Amino acid sequence: DQSVCTPLPVLGRDVTVPLVTGGEVSYAALDYAASAPALQRVWDDVAAYAPYYGSVHRGAGYLSQLSTDLFENARKTVADFLGCRPADQVVFTRSTTDSLNLLARAVPAGCQVFVFETEHHASLLPWQDARVTYLDAPRTPRQAVETLERALADRDPHGPALVCVTGASNVTGELWPVRELAAAAHAHGARIVLDAAQLAPHHPVDLRELDVDWIAFSGHKLYAPFGSGVLAGRADWLQAAEPYLAGGGASRKVTRREDGGVAVEWHETAARHEAGSPNVIGAYAIASACKALTEAGWDGLVAREQHLIAKVREGLAEVPGVRVLSLFGDDAPRVGVISFVVEGWNSSHFAAALSAEYGIGVRDGLFCAHPLVRTLLGSDPQTQGECGAPEAAPGEKSLNAIRVSFGAGTPDEHVERFVNAVR
Ligand code: PMP
Repeated sequence: DQSVCTPLPVLGRDVTVPLVTGGEVSYAALDYAASAPALQRVWDDVAAYAPYYGSVHRGAGYLSQLSTDLFENARKTVADFLGCRPADQVVFTRSTTDSLNLLARAVPAGCQVFVFETEHHASLLPWQDARVTYLDAPRTPRQAVETLERALADRDPHGPALVCVTGASNVTGELWPVRELAAAAHAHGARIVLDAAQLAPHHPVDLRELDVDWIAFSGHKLYAPFGSGVLAGRADWLQAAEPYLAGGGASRKVTRREDGGVAVEWHETAARHEAGSPNVIGAYAIASACKALTEAGWDGLVAREQHLIAKVREGLAEVPGVRVLSLFGDDAPRVGVISFVVEGWNSSHFAAALSAEYGIGVRDGLFCAHPLVRTLLGSDPQTQGECGAPEAAPGEKSLNAIRVSFGAGTPDEHVERFVNAVR
């Protein structure tokens, strides 16, 4: 297919690993959903900038000014990448987990939060201080919208409300009907935050087009290194909230009060929630990744990924005893994240064998989405093990699953080797 682009150069392409059967093989990184390898282009950009980095915001020196410009330009690049509205704020965080915890701290008092039980723990758990309603797993995208509509119809219509939803599942790769869920939220006077940790690396994400209020994602899944993330969206709740961290950079003016205490005026810009010295290189790397993906062209990237998905799914379908996990069914649109179990195999042993015998790096476990994986495995939550490598007794159902995930840097050979290995 002409439209399928070639894999983008990523770090680690030349890494070889030893096999238990003897010899070495090139490492097949098929755990992009956990952390994607950084694009070579991002690494090169960071290396080119590294000799010049300096403190941001308050430094008077040339390199401080340069770094401040690069940091603020990175914000602008991310805003463009996400299709932000002019008044939106882009806050640099450490990760998606950090972004959603920040928003959870910023929700107005009395806010009702609605979240599907199928979410990654990063979007499932931060709301426990709010009035949170957990919604049952839907089995179709339509059911997801109906479930949300029903829950919102029952809510107190006068108080603030927030819906938190993932764009693409980190377990099944399935796309959620974000636009429809956003429309339902807004029709009931609620706001919506999109967990785009798995969507943004695989798909163009446009805040205005999806009509979501906030988007959160992580640099290390978007082909940038670890340690930086983004929360982008409406400024009002963020400006009205107490700073996420108290400290320098977030405060505009600090004075002693007559009663002996300290009075603080906090910034109302993104800096309000970025106290302390920010991760300038991390922000710069995210911006570089945003540019690289845009320049590579989403059409070709998406076509390439769909081509790899088809290879994996068709390959797995031919292997007896393999069950691919799915909430929405075979026809659901999805990104390159596929989880499965193999009859008669402990998933941890299976994943370990893929590594030791074939040099393939996948993941096994419950993928920090315990309720979802338990629903998909159809097993009794009371008898479940935790994330890690619970042992299934002979004849018992798998307690965890195997996940293969890939993206812009994945060559065909990696998924072909994977399918052959499973076979
Ligand atoms: N949401 C989803 C859907 C994810 O897949 C992940 C990471 N597995 C997260 C949130 C959390 O991302 P991070 O670990 O970078 O905070």
